[in-house]
Amino acid sequence: MKRIVVVGASLAGFKTVDALRSNGFAGPITLIGAEDLLPYDRPPLSKDFLLADIVPDIDFASSSWYRENNVELLLGTAASGLDTNRKEVTVGAERIPYDELVIATGARPRNPFGELPKNVFTLRTMDDALEMRLALRSSKSTVIIGGGFIGMEVASAALDLGHEVTVIEVAEVPLSRNLGPETAIRIGDHIREKGVKLACGRSVSQFHGDEVLTGVTLDDGTHIDCEVAIIGIGAIPNTEWLASSELVASPAGIHCDDSGKAAPGIWAVGDVSAWADTDGVPRRHEHWTNATLQTQVVASSIVHGSAQPIEAISYVWSDQFGRRISILGTTHEADEVRILNTVGADFASLYAQNGKIVGACVVNQPRLYIQARRWVSEGKPVAEIAEWNEAVGLTDDSAVRI
Ligand code: FAD
Ligand code: NAP
Repeated sequence: MKRIVVVGASLAGFKTVDALRSNGFAGPITLIGAEDLLPYDRPPLSKDFLLADIVPDIDFASSSWYRENNVELLLGTAASGLDTNRKEVTVGAERIPYDELVIATGARPRNPFGELPKNVFTLRTMDDALEMRLALRSSKSTVIIGGGFIGMEVASAALDLGHEVTVIEVAEVPLSRNLGPETAIRIGDHIREKGVKLACGRSVSQFHGDEVLTGVTLDDGTHIDCEVAIIGIGAIPNTEWLASSELVASPAGIHCDDSGKAAPGIWAVGDVSAWADTDGVPRRHEHWTNATLQTQVVASSIVHGSAQPIEAISYVWSDQFGRRISILGTTHEADEVRILNTVGADFASLYAQNGKIVGACVVNQPRLYIQARRWVSEGKPVAEIAEWNEAVGLTDDSAVRI
C-alpha cells in the first residue's frame, strides 16, 4: 500500500489528511509540521482571538482524532529537504520515504523592515497572536502598516479594545487591490466613520524606541506616537526547503497544473501553491476556502486516480468593524461595477465582464448574499437582473475620491 507524506500541518495539511481518509485511503499517512501545536485554524487569530477573555480552542481536531485515523504526527520539526529521485523528505537527521507527497507549507508574513523594537508584530501563528493579544491589552495606541485583510481585521479588534488606531496603506484606498476602488472607497469611509485614521499613499520609513516601540515616522516625514505596531503587508510562500529539488517555484509559489500536481507523485495545496488558472498562468489564492477545495481535488486524484477540477466559485470572507464582508467570484477582471442595496453603511457591489456577472462583494445582508452567489455561479447576464439596472454605475472619477 502507498505511503503518503504531507508536509505542513495547518489548514491544507489537516484537510488533505481528512480528505484522504474520507476518500477511503487506508494506508500509512505521516503529517509533518514545523509548529509544535496540533493543526489549528488561523482566521480567528486576527478577530475573536484578540478580543476573547479566554483564549479560544481553535484546533481542527483533538489528538485522539489523529490516533483514531491512524495518522502519524511529526510536530515541532520542519522538513529541510526533498530528494525526488529517492522519494524522501529530510526532517532533521531522518529521511522519510513517500510514494505520494503533498506539500502544504503555507506562507509567512512579509517583513522588509529588519530589526525592530519590542511591540512590533507580524501575525501568522498562534504564538504571534498570543503576544499581540497581550500587548494590545496593556496599551492604548496602535499603528497598522498595510490596509489589507490582516490590517483591517486587527484594526477593528484594536478599536474594540479602546485603542487609537491609524492604518498606513501604500495604495490610495485600502483593500483596493482585492476589491477595486469603487467598493474599497465605501469600506474606507466606514472605517473612518468608526474612528480609525487612514494614512493612504504612505508607508513607514522608521520605527522608534530603544527597546520598546514609541512611534513611527512615515515616508513623508509625519511622526505618529504609538505603543504597538502591526505589519500586515502580504505573505511569502514557504518554498526555501525545496531549493535543492527540481520542483519549479517562483514568488507565486510552487507551480502546479490545474489539479495541484507539481511533479509525478508530488502535489501542492493551500497558500504555498500556485495552481494553473483557466488562462494557464500559475497563481496563488491565499484564502481558506481555496485551500480546502484544493485538498479535496488532490485527495481524490491520489486515491481514485482522477478528480474534477474546482468548479465552486471563489469565496473569501472578512469580519471587520462589526460587519461581514463576503467576496464571491472574481473582482479583478470586471469591466463594470455597480453598487446596490445600500442600507446604512451596508451595500453590495456586483462585478460584470462582457455583460455577465463575474463577482460580488456583499457587506452583511445574508439574503442578498445567497442571491449574489447564484448570479455569480450562473454568470447571469446583467440585462436579466433588475437590481443591476436600478443600481448606481460608478465612473473612474468617483474612484479617486480619497
Ligand atoms: P498555513 O496556514 O500557512 O500553514 C502552513 C503550515 O506549514 C504552518 O503550520 C507552517 O509552520 C508549516 N511549515 C512551513 N514550512 C514547513 C516545513 N519546511 N516543514 C514542516 N512544516 C512547515 N482566509 C479567509 O478566507 N478568511 C479569513 O477570514 C482569513 N483570516 C485569516 C487570518 C489570519 C491571521 C491569517 C494568517 C490568515 C487568514 N486567512 C483567511 C487565510 C487562511 O488562513 C490561509 O489561506 C490558510 O491558513 C492557508 O493554509 P495553509 O495550510 O496552506 O498554510
Ligand atoms: P494582503 O491582503 O496582501 O494586504 C497587504 C496590504 O498592505 C496591501 O493593501 C498592500 O498594498 C499593503 N502594503 C504593501 N506594502 C506596504 C507598505 N510598505 N506599507 C504600507 N502598506 C503596504 O496581506 P495581509 O493583509 O498581510 O495578509 C496576509 C495573508 O493573510 C494573506 O494571504 C491574506 O489573504 C491572509 N488573510 C486573509 C484574511 C481574510 O481572507 N479575511 C484575513 C487575514 C489574513 P498593495 O495592495 O498596494 O500592495
